[in-house]
Parts: sequence; C-alpha cells; structure tokens
Amino acid sequence: MTRMESTTNAQQVVRLWLANALALVGEHEEELGRLDAAAGDGDHGTTMVRGLRAANAAVTDAKGSAGELLAQAGAAFSDAAGGASGALVGMWITTIGQRLGDGPYDLPALLEAVQAGTNRVARLGKAQPGDKTVLDALTPFLAALEAQAAAGASLGDGWRAALPAAEQGAAATREMVARRGRSAKLGERSLGHADPGAVSMCYLLRAAADAFDRAGDE
Ligand SMILES: [Mg+2]
Repeated sequence: MTRMESTTNAQQVVRLWLANALALVGEHEEELGRLDAAAGDGDHGTTMVRGLRAANAAVTDAKGSAGELLAQAGAAFSDAAGGASGALVGMWITTIGQRLGDGPYDLPALLEAVQAGTNRVARLGKAQPGDKTVLDALTPFLAALEAQAAAGASLGDGWRAALPAAEQGAAATREMVARRGRSAKLGERSLGHADPGAVSMCYLLRAAADAFDRAGDE
C-alpha cells in the first residue's frame, strides 16, 4: 500500500497494530522477563503485556482519528504498565499519535511522528544510543526508515525494509553495559544479555508492519 487512503483504514491499522503487538509480545513474555532478570527485576514481559492489554481495551470502542486513538492507547499503556519503562513506551505511543493527528498517514508523516516520539523518550529517559536502551533499536530503525522515505518507498514496504536495522540494533545491545534505568546499578551483569526494552520495541515495530500489510489487503 502506498498510504492509508481513508481515515477508517488508518483507525483499523491502529487497532490491528495493538492486537498484533499484544499477541507477539505475549508469545515472548517469558523471554522478555528473563532478559530483564539479568540486571533488573524481571518484570518487563508482564509489564508490556499489561500495558498492551490496556491499550487494546482503550481503542476497542473509542472514536476519533487514528492519531487520537494512538494518543489514548499510549495514555492507557502508561497507566496500566507502570514503572519508568512503561511510562516511556506509553509516552512514545502518545507522542506519535499527537504528531499524526488527523493525518496524512503516509511514510513521511509516520517517520516524522516516530522521530518525535523517540526524541521525547531520549529526553525524558536522559539516554542516548549506546546506553543499552530502547534507543539502540529505534535510532537505527529511524535511519533506515528515513532512507526508505527518501527513496519514495510505500508505507508498508518501507517500514518492513527498516525492521532488520532495529533487530540488529537490539541484538548489538548484548555487547553493551547498561548506563540508564534500574539495570544501570547492576551494570556489568547486563553484559551478554540484550536490553529487554530494545527487544520488545522490535516486536512493536514488527507488529506494525503486519498491520500495514493486512490493512492493505482489505
Ligand atoms: Mg523491570
């Protein structure tokens, strides 16, 4: 698909994304918990599932543009997930929704919105790439997405083509020592384990690619 043609379609993509994300993160709940337990409290899987359940519930019967649905989903995520990382993921989703607003819902608009959400997470989390955080997945993803947008890729194709950059970025966090968040206190213990926030973000990004594809088929 080149872009989400109608508002109805864009709202459907938001609902599909959140449903896919809950299914995918739910499948990997234990893996995320194990990664978090390496240098944290081991709750990242349950936190993400709790947040995504609330985000899904928030948009089931909600009215409004796709951007408004995302903003509501992010707020519900933050409230339900709790903790610092839950607040940041919820803020990321909300900021994307606020930036998208009433559209357009195409690759350049989504690139700008995800960039804004990521900048906000970096600012509030006082983190930068290399600190072993979600930014180590998002920063390379955005660079790849920007290249796709510059080449004129469609939303679905461009987003999917950028996924490997996020996954390689998340995998590279295995070699990093945490410098932000609770796991920073246990620094060296995180070495050899990927950052759970970077890994769960890859699932959120992959869930979006599947939503774009399915919405394009309808
Ligand atoms: Mg934790």
